[in-house]
Amino acid sequence: MKAAAFNYQKVHSIDEALTLLANYGDNAKLVAGGQSILPALNMRLSNPEILIDLQGVSELKGITESGNMVRIGAMTTHTEIQNSEIVQKKLPLLSDAVPHIAHRAIRNLGTWGGSCVLGDPAAEWPACAMALDAVMVIAGPHGQRKVNAKDFFLDLYTTALQADEILVASEFTIPQTNRVHYFEELSRRHGDYAVAGLVCSVEFEQQRVKQSRLVYFSVASTPLMAESVQGLMENKTLSEITDSAWIAQAQEITRTEIQTVADLTNSAEMKKHLVGVLLERAIQNLAIKKI
Ligand SMILES: Cc1cc2nc3c(=O)[nH]c(=O)nc-3n(C[C@H](O)[C@H](O)[C@H](O)COP(=O)(O)OP(=O)(O)OC[C@H]3O[C@@H](n4cnc5c(N)ncnc54)[C@H](O)[C@@H]3O)c2cc1C
Repeated sequence: MKAAAFNYQKVHSIDEALTLLANYGDNAKLVAGGQSILPALNMRLSNPEILIDLQGVSELKGITESGNMVRIGAMTTHTEIQNSEIVQKKLPLLSDAVPHIAHRAIRNLGTWGGSCVLGDPAAEWPACAMALDAVMVIAGPHGQRKVNAKDFFLDLYTTALQADEILVASEFTIPQTNRVHYFEELSRRHGDYAVAGLVCSVEFEQQRVKQSRLVYFSVASTPLMAESVQGLMENKTLSEITDSAWIAQAQEITRTEIQTVADLTNSAEMKKHLVGVLLERAIQNLAIKKI
């Protein structure tokens, strides 16, 4: 199938894109790398009057570090994130996650912002953004606003972004504490969308868990934070959370808390089982990394 006819405009600034969005309303669609929107047009799942191409907007591109903050521009590609020394040093969780996103050709064009705005529940970036407490920077007709990643992903392919807004960047605060992370994705073949995945980021202070973020993806219609287990981990030492009885209790609590939803090929029950499997692996691997 081919896309229906549409107008095309390449813009060079955020303001130019916002003006077009305001003029065309729901009849406009932004295009970043085109890795999801172009297939959607070809399948006639989307039928915009105009496609607004963000490739010429340099203010949306790149990764910068300033003080204890790292900022990833919305138009930064998956490959640029993979190759970034700043990311490798300050946000190594993202470096571990990138190879799991599709295949190289898609990673060369697909973007941080496109993936976050699409809000695919099986995507890696939304879960990573939540695990790292990212702040989503949004530009709209009334200026800029910021939304915490945990409040950004609202439902299946639905985010807090309005139709007349653009995702500009995501900001990450780098903690002064000792932070370890773990990323695991279960998929049928490398490069396939995940059957289930878990992203963890745990901060230790004086050998105790100060703060933890455990975020599941591809188990429900949005990434889900395992808040009960996060609470349970707080202030515990590594030897306490690696105790087999503690892990069994945490698995039970998490399987109750995380309400899994079936996808086309995997049942909700299977995903619920994997939620516990991933948790045990994560705790054991975090312990190895911390030691
Ligand atoms: C075969 C295949 C396999 C894939 N496998 C995976 C996978 O395993 N994991 C994964 O995470 N992804 C996967 N993807 C998706 C891929 O990661 C894309 O990069 C991602 O969906 C976003 O694409 P894009 O950046 O090109 O955005 P586009 O397709 O250009 O846009 C996606 C959506 O975001 C909107 N948008 C884009 N940028 C902005 C912005 N700055 N502000 C507001 N709205 C914006 C667009 O209007 C559109 O609605 C796969 C894609 C394909 C084709």
